[in-house]
Amino acid sequence: MTRHLQLRSAARSLRRTPLLAVPLTAALLLSSCGTSGSDDGTDPSSESASSSTDTSADSDTASTGVDTALFLDGALTEEPTVEDCTLSGGTETTCYRITVSGYPVDHETGPFCPDSITDSAEEGGIWLDGENVYDLDGAFFENLAETYDDDGWLMYDENGDIYVTETQEEFEAAARPDVDPDLANHCVEGSLEWLENGEPITTEVLIPTTPVAAESAQTSQGNNGITLDGVVIAASAPVEAILSAYTIAAFDDCGGHYNPFEGYHMHGATGCSEVGEAEDGDTAMFGYAMDGYAVHSPFEEGEEPDDLDECNGHTTETAGYHYHANPAAENQVIECLVGQTSASAEGGDGGGPPDGGGPPDGAAPPNGAPPAGAAPPEQ
Ligand SMILES: [Zn+2]
Ligand SMILES: [Zn+2]
Repeated sequence: MTRHLQLRSAARSLRRTPLLAVPLTAALLLSSCGTSGSDDGTDPSSESASSSTDTSADSDTASTGVDTALFLDGALTEEPTVEDCTLSGGTETTCYRITVSGYPVDHETGPFCPDSITDSAEEGGIWLDGENVYDLDGAFFENLAETYDDDGWLMYDENGDIYVTETQEEFEAAARPDVDPDLANHCVEGSLEWLENGEPITTEVLIPTTPVAAESAQTSQGNNGITLDGVVIAASAPVEAILSAYTIAAFDDCGGHYNPFEGYHMHGATGCSEVGEAEDGDTAMFGYAMDGYAVHSPFEEGEEPDDLDECNGHTTETAGYHYHANPAAENQVIECLVGQTSASAEGGDGGGPPDGGGPPDGAAPPNGAPPAGAAPPEQ
């Protein structure tokens, strides 16, 4: 709720901000949604990982631990390894070092931005701003000034053609802290071929092999987790900064998009990347949170069970303790974490900045650098 109020207040301040007065430092649009794992010593000869069969009984948050066999073929660039790690609460345990490929192995990426205000939703992806999720059809772009109550929005020309980042240079210029003013009123999209070497950007994470409860739930900082099809579940996208630069950082229908630093990553759970069957009355799993608990798809509105905790987690007979992702509209995939995360990952760049927080691995507040005068970081 707090988030929504803050977004509304940010939206109000946007309306008072003339186009050219947008603080340039405010908008590191698509950059740095997360982290590249930690760099503490990896023993290349670490034992090869296998599916964990550990169980932690007698707990509301019992879980069988991370099952590396659930990752789809090709989702990981190498076999996970196991190493000693110290968790955020001081627990000494073991963690998997997992490298996700950075490209979803079970679906193509895009489309992101439609070409014309006459295009249907099939030609575009989605936009999510913390309050709503929108189909990126032509009408969305036609109505932007009304949607955000700001006449500074005009993202199409006299022919109805939508301004879209069309080159690698434009993409990069729209995804840096000082957004090129020429790219205001552009729908920002990237592509695999515009990443360095045209290759997916891999991300290494350390995740406890078996989750260990934390003393209290923590808002997930930096990356929220990883998907079973090989993509980082990033922190919230810096919606205020994106909108204050009069840009739309389009997501595809799977809630992911590209930035030049992190490659393709996900901000909204829309039912992609799922594996296995959902239990009766539940939804299917699509990833792991950084504390090692499974993450399942959101419930349909009105179908949430009443046993969800503050982090949208609960325990079922088949799945043990697991989270349910927030609806994509909320711009935060995992509400919070009940388990400890790898302290080394947090202390290195594992707890690093989400979108908008300065250089890719720089220190940044949880929600990036907000526009001047905007609400303080969430929570
Ligand atoms: Zn992003
Ligand atoms: Zn569930």
